[in-house]
Parts: sequence; C-alpha cells; structure tokens
Amino acid sequence: MSNLENKVAVITGGNSGIGYASAKELKENGAHVIITGRSSEKVKKAAAELGVKGIVADVTKLSQIDNLVNQVKNEFGKVDVLFVNAGVFTPAPIGNNTEESFDYQMDTNFKGAVFTLEKFLPILNESASVINLSSVLANKGVANTAIYSASKAAMNSYTKTSATELAPRKIRVNSINPGPINTPIYGKIGMPEEQLNEMATTFQNRVPLKRFAESSEVAKLVAFLASDDSSFITGSEYNIGGGINVSI
Ligand code: NAD
Repeated sequence: MSNLENKVAVITGGNSGIGYASAKELKENGAHVIITGRSSEKVKKAAAELGVKGIVADVTKLSQIDNLVNQVKNEFGKVDVLFVNAGVFTPAPIGNNTEESFDYQMDTNFKGAVFTLEKFLPILNESASVINLSSVLANKGVANTAIYSASKAAMNSYTKTSATELAPRKIRVNSINPGPINTPIYGKIGMPEEQLNEMATTFQNRVPLKRFAESSEVAKLVAFLASDDSSFITGSEYNIGGGINVSI
C-alpha cells in the first residue's frame, strides 16, 4: 500500500474505467480525491459511490479547465497528484480518418492533457506527481489506431519535456502505457458487438499473458507513481500490458 495520507489528488475522467478504479485506490491509500468528467449525471453518481468530490469539466474546453482549477483551489488549496487520465479511442483505417474523429481524439487525448497540466501548474505543490495516462500503442504501429496512437505519442513527448522543465520545482511527470484493459472505452467505439469481440480476441492473443487486465491493476501503478515511494522517478514511461509492449 502507498502512503497518500492527506495528499490532494485530481483525476480527470474519474467517473469510469481506469480513472474510477484509481480514485478508489488513491482514496483507500489516504488521499483526498477529486474526480472530473463531462456528464454531470455520471460524475455525480460516481462521486457518491466513491465518497469523493466530483466536478464537471470537459478537458476539450479550456474555460471548463479554468473553472475546475478555481474550484479545486478554493476548496482544497494546492494539488499533490494530478492524474491526466481522460481519453477517447475511435479506431479507423488509414484513408478513413475523418477531420471530426481526428479533432475529437487530438483535442481530448493531447490538447486536453497538455492544458490540464498547464492550467493546474500554478496550484501544484512542490514535489507534486503528474501522471499521464498514455498507451502501449504510442510506440507501435498497430493497424486502425493511427490518430489515437499519435495522440498518445505526442502526450509521451510532452511528458518528457515537462519532466525536465518542472524538475526545479521537484514536480515529477511520468506516463503510464497500458495494454488492453477491461473498461467501458471499447463499448463507446460504436462498433457492432461481433466486430468488437473480434478486436478484443486479436488484442488478447497478442498479450503474452493472454488476457485483458482489470482497471484495478493499473490503479496500483497509479498509486505507486503518486506516492513518495517513486520519489526519484520522473520523465519515465511505464508499460503495463502483460508483455504486449515487447511481443508486437
Ligand atoms: P473509459 O471510457 O471508461 O474512461 C474514460 C474517461 O474519460 C471517462 O470518465 C470519460 O468521461 C472521460 N472523458 C472522455 N472525454 C473527456 C473529456 N473531453 N473531458 C473530460 N473527461 C473525458 O475508458 P478507460 O479505458 O478507463 O480510459 C482511461 C484512459 O486510459 C484513456 O486515456 C485511454 O485512452 C487510456 N487507455 C485505455 C486502455 C484500455 O484498454 N482501456 C488502454 C490504453 C490506454
């Protein structure tokens, strides 16, 4: 168990999947947790279940990130852990990538992530930990994932530069690159169930450990990187994919 006693932790996209599991884990480790999401109903429901603070903020709308920062500052003061987790996945083959789907993924996964950190920076404590949720796909060429993978590769590049620049404030910035994790993200693609199952089987077969992981397994890594147990780790990428990062 990581000691997060009295640390203030903000998790974007905390009402579902990996963000939800991480909110639970960080809270159990002693943190004061704030989750965000786009839908007021979903954020409210998740916050009540978890016993944490919920704030509605769409990361693609910079004014909403400003409001989020102001609310967190007024209620909690400074932030110790910033988990930049909100993300979307809309796979498509080259030649079928639309401007709409490009903007949706880039605006959420890259621009949204960048401006979450940029805007929280003034209220990050010295020694804060920033964790960017990326993907093993950032370093691969898996078919149908070009724009998504590029958005996560851009995020990992930003992670490295911000780790260098924020080191004088002792702020650590790291990326987590998950492989396939069992979350609602796949159900949001809008694919027919049969095609979705086929994709899941393909992914699973590529994982040496031959399974999807549960969100709670990623949450344990989030808790480690959030805590002072990882005090000398910054600018790093952590693969958590049952070996998929070395097998494909
Ligand atoms: P999920 O769909 O369960 O959760 C995504 C969360 O992001 C939701 O809470 C959603 O409301 C939020 N979100 C999306 N757009 C947002 C926006 N504009 N503003 C605020 N919140 C927004 O999926 P998940 O699998 O838990 O995804 C979490 C992160 O993990 C994403 O960044 C995703 O790319 C990444 N990831 C997932 C997998 C996987 O296999 N599930 C693998 C690698 C990386």
